[in-house]
Amino acid sequence: MGSQVFGKTQSGKDVTLYTIKNEHGLSLSVIEYGATIVSLTVPDRDGTVRDVVLGYDTVAGYEKGGCYFGAVIGRNANRIANASCVIGEQLYELEKNECGNNLHSGSHGFHSALWKLDSMDEDKVTLCYESPSMEQGFPGNMTAKVTYELTKENQLLITYEAVSDEDTVANFTNHAYFNLEGHKAGSIENHMLSIYASYFTPVVDKESIPTGDITSVLHTPMDFRREHRIGERIEDAFEQLAYAGGYDHNYVLDKAEDAMQLAAVARSEESGIVMEVYTTCPGMQFYSGNFIDHENGKEGTDYQKRQGFCLETQYFPNAINEVRFPSPILKAGESYRSQTAYHFLIK
Ligand code: BGC
Repeated sequence: MGSQVFGKTQSGKDVTLYTIKNEHGLSLSVIEYGATIVSLTVPDRDGTVRDVVLGYDTVAGYEKGGCYFGAVIGRNANRIANASCVIGEQLYELEKNECGNNLHSGSHGFHSALWKLDSMDEDKVTLCYESPSMEQGFPGNMTAKVTYELTKENQLLITYEAVSDEDTVANFTNHAYFNLEGHKAGSIENHMLSIYASYFTPVVDKESIPTGDITSVLHTPMDFRREHRIGERIEDAFEQLAYAGGYDHNYVLDKAEDAMQLAAVARSEESGIVMEVYTTCPGMQFYSGNFIDHENGKEGTDYQKRQGFCLETQYFPNAINEVRFPSPILKAGESYRSQTAYHFLIK
């Protein structure tokens, strides 16, 4: 457990780094900028620790970076079509930061906010952010908290909590890019992956806005109910994969509403590290890192396409505009709470 100076933002504000540990050798460092996970070290099958998340060495790296490495995304994770939505009777216009749509809440999203320490323990840290009404175009003053905990069961447990004084959107995720062989190990295409979802939400075209349909994965390369190598079918002639240059799709998890259940298992045969993902959320974006393009990362690493993968637990993309999807609305005065756990094992 500890805190140290990580650096300064472009505007001269100090950014502190917090480190927590558990008895199994897991160690997590997060910074106040974006409540971002900057490193997560996990012992491999030989006991050698590997840092399994992509990141940058400096605050400037996170400020410049286009990939959202390790950041908390909010108030809305993923895309909102035409960067507009109706809440109550009112139309809200958001920043058009990707092809006329809104991605990850625009440039003033939670990923670029300076979070503050709320509380800290040996194995647990809570960061807090007060988001003023209309900051990202969404109504309501929101207090958001994210807690990272390294449990005795060897999980990284993330808890998101929020309240708002007006009806608004609450749909948070963490955008960690994992490589279970180590952040500078190269391609993730040899990782084995299972996703417990019988359906996914197909997209219209390259802009990755869902059609609104909930489609079976059966007989498609989207089916990960049985374990597959990530790279096995990634170049198949399947239109949905062609749109995104690989996997970048929301899975409709086979789970009971709000229950904490197993969503996915990823593992590397090379390191022996297995990561199970549990969540209370209804959806999960599996993104195979298709758009990473020469990101100048930690320890001088030049990260490239498909060198990290994301399993972003969330409400479905564009859920605020799609009546067929569970609603991401947080009512004024009510409390939002969701949890996602990454459980590390050795095989
Ligand atoms: C999106 C990708 C995007 C990535 C980084 C993911 O959540 O689905 O399309 O490239 O975030 O912005």
